[in-house]
Amino acid sequence: MERPLLMIPGPIEVSPAVVAAVDGPPPGHLAPAFVEAMGRAITGLRGFFGGAEGTLPVIAAGSGTVAMDMAVANVVGPGDRALLVNTGYFSARLGEMLRRRRVEVVELEADCGECPEPAAVGTLLARGSFDALCATHVDTSTGVRVDVEALAGLAREAGTLSLFDGVCAAAAERVDMAAWGVDVYLTGSQKAVGLPAGLALVLASPAALSRRGGLAEPPPLSLDWQAWAPIMEAYEQGRPSYFSTPATNLVAGLDASLNELAAARWGGHEGRDAVFARHADVAAALRQVWAQLGLRMLPAREEITASTLSAILYPEGVGPELVKAIGAAGVVVAGGLYPGRQGDYFRVGHMGHSTTQPDHLERLVRAVATGLRECGHGADPDAAARTLHGALPH
Ligand code: PMP
Repeated sequence: MERPLLMIPGPIEVSPAVVAAVDGPPPGHLAPAFVEAMGRAITGLRGFFGGAEGTLPVIAAGSGTVAMDMAVANVVGPGDRALLVNTGYFSARLGEMLRRRRVEVVELEADCGECPEPAAVGTLLARGSFDALCATHVDTSTGVRVDVEALAGLAREAGTLSLFDGVCAAAAERVDMAAWGVDVYLTGSQKAVGLPAGLALVLASPAALSRRGGLAEPPPLSLDWQAWAPIMEAYEQGRPSYFSTPATNLVAGLDASLNELAAARWGGHEGRDAVFARHADVAAALRQVWAQLGLRMLPAREEITASTLSAILYPEGVGPELVKAIGAAGVVVAGGLYPGRQGDYFRVGHMGHSTTQPDHLERLVRAVATGLRECGHGADPDAAARTLHGALPH
């Protein structure tokens, strides 16, 4: 039987070039070819996320959660105040991290599938003196996307540092750190960045770095930007350096993946513009298929609906057995994740390599239609495939 296709919101299918790059005997962390790959990856990340010259990208072994901890622990400390825009399960995790750092957290929480209006964030920022504004770019539990440009702009106006968890958004949804005033942006390797899990990626603006310098209580050593900065600077200048062993195979994969992102072409766009346009177009085409299948999305409005995943409400009379039925049709999708609402919807990831592969997308929509049919909800896989191909730009 054909290997099941992995279409959950991370980890994702990765490209053959990335598989080839991470395969093989582990490179030493001081080997010349590795030093070059690391240097290119550092420069590449800063460029891809639109960081200013003094922006520090940190590439460390770890998960997305490690990246979140690194970000939080370097910009706030005991007694600080943070405003948290809470759009779901992963925003709540950010809140937990802030509280463990003994930060006073004020939460602006949206109903499941909704997103607070930026104006409400602006009002709170103007009223209180906050040391940080924190939000989840795309909360993977709801498929809701916040407006990072608007939120970072408001934070900048208020003189507040801004920090975004981009784990389920980075390399798919646009971010322009310097132009938008984003201070900290973080992700993990296993989503749209296009690698297996295992790298924590954090970008820190010059303002965020100087915040670290002023912290009374330093972060745990393994997460400390002051320990990482000279290492990243050395690698970027082509000099081997050591603080904590990098995940060398994965860094080789990151170099390959950033090369692919830079070489992307889509609808007259190039590089990262092509990557963002491709994710938006694929997500829109899939939404047409879901609508044709009689399915409704969890996010309340299209403008807050992420391009990286679809959170889809189960139709009347269908429940979590649908995830199993789609799996039996050869495609792995995920169940719901929002506390208390897990049984109401399922989630389909559409990021990275699969967005360049129409046959992956066709297998996905056929499997969803087949699963629905198996669950007694009329659906035609051929019609779903036709809708997909009609909706994808040619
Ligand atoms: N934030 C978001 C938005 C995520 O989607 C995830 C992973 N699903 C994480 C944080 C945590 O990442 P990890 O599972 O790699 O620790």
